[in-house]
Amino acid sequence: MSMTPRATLVIRGRIASLAGDDGPGWVDAIGIADGRVVAAGSRDAVAAAAGPGTRTLDLGPDEVAVPGLTDSHLHLVEAALSRSRVGLEHAAAIEELVGRVRAGADRVPDGDAWIEGAGWDPDAFGRWPTADDLERAAPGRRVALWAHDHHALLVSDRALAEAGVGERTPDPDGGVIRRHGDGRETGVLHEAAARLVAGRIPPPSVDALTAAMRSLIGELVALGVVAVHDPGGLSQQDGLRGPIQAYRALAAAGELGLRAHPCVRPEQLDAAEAEGIRSGQPLGPDPRDRLRLGWLKTFADGSLGSRTAALLEPLVRGPGEPEPPNGGHGVWLTPPEQLRAQATRAASLGITTQIHGIGDAAVRVALDVLGPTVGATPLVPRVEHTQLVHPDDVPRFAALGIAASFQPVHVRSDEEKARRLWGERAELGAYALGAIARTGALIPTGTDAPVEPIDPWPGVACAVTRSAPSWPAGTPPLGPSNALSLWRSLRAAGVDPARSAGERDRGRLVPGHRADVVVLPAAALDEPVEAGGALWHARPRLVLLDGEIVAG
Ligand SMILES: [Zn+2]
Repeated sequence: MSMTPRATLVIRGRIASLAGDDGPGWVDAIGIADGRVVAAGSRDAVAAAAGPGTRTLDLGPDEVAVPGLTDSHLHLVEAALSRSRVGLEHAAAIEELVGRVRAGADRVPDGDAWIEGAGWDPDAFGRWPTADDLERAAPGRRVALWAHDHHALLVSDRALAEAGVGERTPDPDGGVIRRHGDGRETGVLHEAAARLVAGRIPPPSVDALTAAMRSLIGELVALGVVAVHDPGGLSQQDGLRGPIQAYRALAAAGELGLRAHPCVRPEQLDAAEAEGIRSGQPLGPDPRDRLRLGWLKTFADGSLGSRTAALLEPLVRGPGEPEPPNGGHGVWLTPPEQLRAQATRAASLGITTQIHGIGDAAVRVALDVLGPTVGATPLVPRVEHTQLVHPDDVPRFAALGIAASFQPVHVRSDEEKARRLWGERAELGAYALGAIARTGALIPTGTDAPVEPIDPWPGVACAVTRSAPSWPAGTPPLGPSNALSLWRSLRAAGVDPARSAGERDRGRLVPGHRADVVVLPAAALDEPVEAGGALWHARPRLVLLDGEIVAG
């Protein structure tokens, strides 16, 4: 029998340990040694586990502690890089896009350098932007701008010409080259067509990557996010270079500031096989034991905003709506048979699969494909986003042992689109966290940054409110039957992600678990959860990772 070490740090106050299957699991104190919780319960019980010279941290009467959060779907490397690019979020008109690109071009005076950016939304403009718009902003330059959902790329004439994309270029598999009425390409490349240009932009160096990651990781930890599942780059990657190499460099130096499960993409499976890396296993030397391989991340369909989500019934088209691709049935980024082949091969290599599935047809296929792989690897197969689920498929997650990964903050951003494009289906089937949670399935949550901001708290709150302060007055909550309780939402932001990653020692503040602790203002948990309320705007006062203070 192993000896439990004496606690070297005791935290006293109101601590939500999240012990057990539901509720807060309040305790009055926890004891920590060697980066783990060794005692939790009453003050007296924890005092008895302390050794001589134990330090004590007393929370204030207006403070509470919870376990650190895990963002289950955060493109960490992309989010880090997006900081140095032209931000087009909330540009309300084409002229605003033009102005921001012009300013961005001025910051990159080298005429051959790429001007990269992201965040534009065709719905805000009333039409799709074009390469002609970019000529007015940055004439003759190489420009590539991702849409806010990263499912379309707007590129300049020079970028098109250098990639050899012209009137006669056929649409690639899984992609659409947007064209004017006369057949001429407009500059917008949907889905896989984006790779025609994105693949030509030189990747950043590993040093540039680690520098950007370090800075973003500092911000994440200060927000209470102690772990991320990184679904990987949104554009094509080659081998295990680039982002995975950057993660490895940080981990080997003992400088990875949070826990990370980066994923591999299908084009990286050969390299993963050659190296013999497996889901849940370390990716290399890592003195702090923070870096492990996540999932194979693959894509079934597109997105709601780009009207490329794969749907059982076509989307609702209002008067004046732009023509949606494929008659409103969406786009298969990977045909179902190919998804099956990918997931089967990955499982044989010890790699668990997660499938991006937005529309109800994509979610159904993802469940079909993942089902036979359950139990083959230590991680839990997942459907990512799960934005629209047919009622028949709701019970299948728990029945099969598949997790439904959600980004509840999308309810804030996408409510209007979901109701408009999915009609009555949205009320019960969109972002169905409550319905799927009631079946007992895991529902790990996250932000999908950089599609959304990295702040986890609006999402934790939005899963409870199903409404947002940015909505027009009088807008009813979206599908209130899918609301979670406060405690179920907090568990979905920490316990469920850890369990989906096969981690039995994280997510709660109970003996044996990692001592990742976030101290919040008490109002965040004590006040009724409201759109824009105290939980929505929560800012940690103190964050501990492995029992060490890392922020605050
Ligand atoms: Zn994503």
